[in-house]
Amino acid sequence: MTTTDTILERDSSAFTAAAKVVARIGADRAESSSDIEVRDPHDDSVIGYVRDFDVDRALEAVAAADSAGRGWAATTPRHRADVLRRWYELLIENAEDIALLITLEMGKTLADARAEVTYGADFVRWYAEEAPRSAGTVREAPSGGGQLLTRRVPVGLAVLITPWNFPLAMATRKIAPALAAGCPVVVKPATLTPLTTLFAVQLAVEAGVPGDLIQTVTTSDSGAFSKAVLADPRVRKVSFTGSTGVGKVLLRLAADNVLKSSMELGGNAPFLVFDDADLERAVEGALRAKLRNGGQSCIAANRFLVQSGIADAFVEGLTERLAALQVGSGLSEGVGLGPMVDHKAVHRLQALVDDAVARGAVPRTERSVPGSPGSYFRATLLDHVPQDADVVTTEIFGPIAAVQRFSTQQEAVTRANDTEFGLAGYVFTESLDRAFSVADSLETGILGINQGVPSNAAAPFGGVKESGLGREGSSEGLEEYQETRFYNLALRHTE
Ligand code: NAD
Repeated sequence: MTTTDTILERDSSAFTAAAKVVARIGADRAESSSDIEVRDPHDDSVIGYVRDFDVDRALEAVAAADSAGRGWAATTPRHRADVLRRWYELLIENAEDIALLITLEMGKTLADARAEVTYGADFVRWYAEEAPRSAGTVREAPSGGGQLLTRRVPVGLAVLITPWNFPLAMATRKIAPALAAGCPVVVKPATLTPLTTLFAVQLAVEAGVPGDLIQTVTTSDSGAFSKAVLADPRVRKVSFTGSTGVGKVLLRLAADNVLKSSMELGGNAPFLVFDDADLERAVEGALRAKLRNGGQSCIAANRFLVQSGIADAFVEGLTERLAALQVGSGLSEGVGLGPMVDHKAVHRLQALVDDAVARGAVPRTERSVPGSPGSYFRATLLDHVPQDADVVTTEIFGPIAAVQRFSTQQEAVTRANDTEFGLAGYVFTESLDRAFSVADSLETGILGINQGVPSNAAAPFGGVKESGLGREGSSEGLEEYQETRFYNLALRHTE
């Protein structure tokens, strides 16, 4: 790796601009000694403070959202669409400030942060467009004598819990369809990255969303929060993005009040490269699927399964690209890999590499840890990784590429499906027949075919198996915030 030994200095003009955004949302000062500190993973410095809500304050937020929700549910779909469209425009007008804030609190490169703003804003635009298109159905009763009508109505107050890796997009992917459907929301961002969500919600209010309709609850006690809030009878929906372990806890809590539940959980994406793949395209796709967000993405390629005829060339190509990456503060232009979100993440990644090497994996990149106060971790390629290595069986969530080789398509598919997860997968081949035959055999909700970043606001994002329940994006994402009601209309012929 060329530049990891001298971690780039923070670019001062970008940092100053980011600090101004922190001040704009009033997070530049602590209001009480119990406020939560938000840190820059580049150097661990405190960049802002947010309030630490206790359970009583969280329940007050539920009450405020609930009463604002009644008026909102009665607005027309066109009104909701217009407000969402204005919110989208404000997100785009403030794109650079939002990107700076994302990089400052989460660490990803500015290029990735800008891409997140585009992606995150796209959900708001999409649901502005979907709000007036939500339609019911009319069907003749099969045995005659009447008609069956369906309507789609808002599910009610939704609790939205989001992770730190996409602090804007994971929030807009939930808030926008909830508002489009006519629901009030209580959103709980991750403690590590609450500032971006607070800024986005501030812009929503500027766009015309009623002040109390979106309640943002920041708390250091997420367990107490979910226990109290999900037990409140005013809450009718929970939508969570995060780890499978926490998702299971929330599903158990949701069961008590039979809450409609959406779960976007962890992944262990297989990335299949066949001998007939276009090598350059496969390496480029691998780089994007692995390194976007520093590898901290739920759909990040976890296991590279490469056919033996192309494996050496693929490993060489990917190793070269990883070695050429500039590592440093995400605020510095040109950097390809920023810090990991915190030191815990770095220790976890180091343990994964150590375990794989102890079991026989061959490291192709430098193994030393870059020296810096921040939470940096080198992009690492491990070749010939054995099946029982932790790096294969668990979600890596960082810039480690684990390569395994296979001979036949059947072997690749069997190994790819040998996981409790089923979020995303990737297949690289120049054969359409092979692409579809592999696609049909993989147990995932999302598949990139010769494509390293498959996400799109217009597509239903979600997993199968332990990767989740429900879909976000597309028209299906709106239905997650609606109930279907049916009326059986008896009709009698009159003369
Ligand atoms: P996490 O599960 O630790 O935390 C996610 C959120 O849940 C945070 O806001 C956290 O404060 C909160 N939380 C934790 N315990 C809770 C509890 N008992 N009650 C209520 N809230 C609680 O996950 P993370 O480390 O923030 O994010 C990484 C995980 O998220 C990875 O597993 C990744 O795959 C997953 N993820 C999934 C998707 C997807 O769309 N499927 C997208 C992004 C991230």
